[in-house]
Amino acid sequence: MISSINPANDQLLAEFAHHTESDMESRLSQAAKAQKSWAQLDVQARRPYLNKVAAALRQQKEALAKIITLEMGKPLSEALGEVEKCAWNFDFYAEQGPNFLADQVIASAATDSRVVYDPLGLVLAVMPWNYPFWQVMRAAAPVLIGGNGMVLKHASNVPQCAMALEQVFKNAGLPEGLFSTLMVGASVVPRLIQDERIAAVTFTGSTPVGRSIASVAGQALKKQVLELGGSDPFIVLADADIEAAAAVGVKARFQNTGQSCISSKRFIVEASVAERFKDAFVALTQKLVVGDPLAAGTTIGSMARRNLRDELHAQVVASVGEGARLLTGGNPIDGPGAFYQPTVLDHVTPSMTVAREETFGPAAALMRVRSVDEAIEVANGTPFGLGASLWTRDLDRARQLTRQIDSGAVFVNGMVASDPRLPFGGTKQSGYGRELGYLGLHEFTNIKTVWTGPAKA
Ligand code: NAP
Repeated sequence: MISSINPANDQLLAEFAHHTESDMESRLSQAAKAQKSWAQLDVQARRPYLNKVAAALRQQKEALAKIITLEMGKPLSEALGEVEKCAWNFDFYAEQGPNFLADQVIASAATDSRVVYDPLGLVLAVMPWNYPFWQVMRAAAPVLIGGNGMVLKHASNVPQCAMALEQVFKNAGLPEGLFSTLMVGASVVPRLIQDERIAAVTFTGSTPVGRSIASVAGQALKKQVLELGGSDPFIVLADADIEAAAAVGVKARFQNTGQSCISSKRFIVEASVAERFKDAFVALTQKLVVGDPLAAGTTIGSMARRNLRDELHAQVVASVGEGARLLTGGNPIDGPGAFYQPTVLDHVTPSMTVAREETFGPAAALMRVRSVDEAIEVANGTPFGLGASLWTRDLDRARQLTRQIDSGAVFVNGMVASDPRLPFGGTKQSGYGRELGYLGLHEFTNIKTVWTGPAKA
């Protein structure tokens, strides 16, 4: 059974039987059939379907957001924003799909030579629970406009979200099975990757699982996009607008109850402004409102599972043992649910647990550095590289520094965020491939070169 449990009060919401072998078989063959007809449609004919998905999301926004909040504990206001962003992504690809998929003519010795973008086939999406709609829908929109289909294996703690997503596509009138959810456990994933009807894999989740998926997909020689973990730096130089940096920093760390791959996790601050930054950061952290995720005004909800809270707490305790100074928070909150106090640790050094490992919850690590060079060295001193934030008033220097930071994105004087218009992804152990923007669409196409000589010799 796959259980849907409200992490804010531990109550069982629903249970779903695993799909049987024959359920899986019929869903896979239906999806493969649907994709073949879908691929025959011109991109212009696919566009209205994506707009209909966006409309279906907006029409049921409140109900869908409530499912997200009940199942994984984020504040309802954030869940509403998540559904709206999914709708934006579908409208964006409906609008831009034809541009991104237009033939690219390239001069050569041929009479005509060009690159065309053909569909790949069925894409298996293995997805996490932290943005249970967005992670799926940011991948689904480009996959579908490109003429592909999608089979979803969602995280086991968000089965209602998985079913709701499938229903959204049904309501929007997409061909039956073109987007299909499989209610299966993680152990089935290797078999799915190897299935001949699956052409490619998109995975968002932790680095160890990404490694295992990559090895199965590698053996099967199937294209993969891997969006993995992060321990992103938030670098504050001495000339930065410290108050603005602290305000954005608190949002960047604690959004989604700290459970975001691109949450800033290590706050690397030049020593001369460290006290000012720390005071502002802690004061704002203490104003966060922890509580019922459905209640208006709540800014920190429940973590998604008790075991995830235990893991975060163990990292905090270990770091304090290693010499970090606890400024606020630092404990699970008693009572039902997986609530954790918003936590700030100061004087964190690169060898401490919260600096070495990804912290996936409401805990910030402040690290003090003596120079800009040291800031960059500390920022890069991690196996991860997803999205860095850099704060300085000197934009010329910022432009130079952005090239020295090893990550998939650098946001100068802003919070790292995904945006349908801009490519998104990581480097190093944070994964490879890109989502969103034109690159996210090209990942799941057969980039075909067509060379044509003269009609008559
Ligand atoms: P996870 O444990 O890696 O799980 C992600 C998905 O993989 C789930 O559907 C899970 O299914 C499945 N899975 C687990 N073990 C598997 C295995 N051995 N083989 C195949 N599939 C397996 O990650 P999570 O805890 O859900 O999500 C948090 C992680 O995701 C963090 O590290 C975060 O940084 C990362 N993340 C990255 C991005 C990005 O864009 N880079 C975005 C969001 C999150 P079950 O639930 O059934 O185990």
